[in-house]
Amino acid sequence: MDWVASKTGTLLNSTVQVLDQVVQSGSRFEATLSPAAMKIIKGVMGNDVLSAGFFLMIIGSFYTFFKDLFVRYYYEIQSWFYVSVEVQEGDDTYKWLSEWVAERPLTKSVRHLTVKAVWDEDSDNDDYYSNNSKDERPRLLFMPGMGSHVLYHKGYKINVSRDRPDQAAGADGEQSRILASIQKKQCLTISTFGWDISRLKTIVQDAMEESYKKKEGKTTIYTSQPYDNYWSGSSTRSPRAFHSVILAEGLKEELLEDITTFRNSSQWYHDRGVPYRRGYLLHGPPGTGKTSFIVALAGHLNMSVCIVNLGISGLNDQQLDRLLNNAPRNSILLMEDVDAALVKRKAGKSQEGGNNVTLSGILNALDGITAQEGSVVFMTTNHIRKLAPALIRPGRCDRKMLFDYADKHQIEGMFLKFFLSRPPAAPKPVRKLLTTSTSASTATPTLLEQDSKEQGRKDTYDAMIKRTAAKMAEAITFKDTVTTAQLQGFFMLHRDDPENILDEVPGFLAELIHE
Ligand code: ADP
Repeated sequence: MDWVASKTGTLLNSTVQVLDQVVQSGSRFEATLSPAAMKIIKGVMGNDVLSAGFFLMIIGSFYTFFKDLFVRYYYEIQSWFYVSVEVQEGDDTYKWLSEWVAERPLTKSVRHLTVKAVWDEDSDNDDYYSNNSKDERPRLLFMPGMGSHVLYHKGYKINVSRDRPDQAAGADGEQSRILASIQKKQCLTISTFGWDISRLKTIVQDAMEESYKKKEGKTTIYTSQPYDNYWSGSSTRSPRAFHSVILAEGLKEELLEDITTFRNSSQWYHDRGVPYRRGYLLHGPPGTGKTSFIVALAGHLNMSVCIVNLGISGLNDQQLDRLLNNAPRNSILLMEDVDAALVKRKAGKSQEGGNNVTLSGILNALDGITAQEGSVVFMTTNHIRKLAPALIRPGRCDRKMLFDYADKHQIEGMFLKFFLSRPPAAPKPVRKLLTTSTSASTATPTLLEQDSKEQGRKDTYDAMIKRTAAKMAEAITFKDTVTTAQLQGFFMLHRDDPENILDEVPGFLAELIHE
């Protein structure tokens, strides 16, 4: 209002002055103005073009003045009659609300959309890597693009607007792009007519509930994207069954107990002023189940997994720090093959793809983590000896677990997991009986008879599988340095012929390639 008053005052003052002078009599007018000014005014008044220009200038000033007034009042009036809620990219609420909006039809035909691929795997397949199988497709999430949109919800008109702060002017080069992406976050605003904010609060609440409902009983896996400071990529999948990961005897239980104790001890840590975080290093040859175990553990504990890819293009120390410290709550932070990124750097190839993560950057980021509600950090490596001692000292890595080549227990366990109670297709006994038998008493076996025959067949099959599993564990020894992943490949190759698989063992061992 002050602005309006001052602007109006100035304009009125100058107008009054001009009019005052124009209506003055010639002598008085001449007396107040210098001869030079009088000459100019007379020149202007005497010239049609100049006087028309002067007139247009006055009209233009009035137009600009009233337009400014209108624009200013429009937003003031609008904000007076509307309530709104704004959420920012990077915050959970942004994800919830974006999905909520995407799932509702917008009234006007929207010409500019933003699309995102969302992986909602529903398969019961235990294999984490099956996510990449060709048959699975992501769900495409179409969201309104930049600008304002309208949708109706429970009979109310909701305005939705998505804005992105302008990209840094003249931004060029890697550094500027990173900086721009750091500072510029998209905003999503929902607003509605009236003074009742509770309706919008309910929408955000509903959006959150919907999102949690979708993730119920699932494992969410977050990934960081190039130039991201937050976890923008995520997929949900059915949790991998904990029992499906076969580790050395007792290892799984030991790790589970350790992590459960940690998650129940926040008070203990706070009382003693010890940072509430716990780090684990799983090391050993590739294909021994390190990643599979972590994903299964997350599912078992109802946690999410955030995979930090240290080799990602454009990642630098600051971003790593931000990612680790802004991980979604209740999640396992997983840094895979932590040695690889640093080795690359030592070899002087770190600039490839703009990756600038340094050892001290990782150390700082790890030290900065304060576990939110029991978040934990897992690192995996195939070469523990290549890791800097500072990275794996207690406080950063509290437990180091070796995931080694398959031992007797694992070979048996993997074999049983693959073949037990999964008999090959039955030879359809009932139909055979009906068509070949001539005797009325044996033509139609009762359901009970069928069931017990089926059970008998299963028992015989399982007994054979257990015998073969034991023999398999004799035929392949720890010294053969076979990984559980290699065993999985071998068993899959012969999955329809467990009876004769033992004959294939020598060939399998002869062809093993050690990474
Ligand atoms: P790592 O992380 O040690 O390289 P992965 O967890 O990536 O090993 O395992 C690769 C593949 O082998 C996955 O498909 C997984 O299902 C299988 N696999 C490896 N080890 C095990 C194990 N101990 N128990 C069950 N499956 C395993």
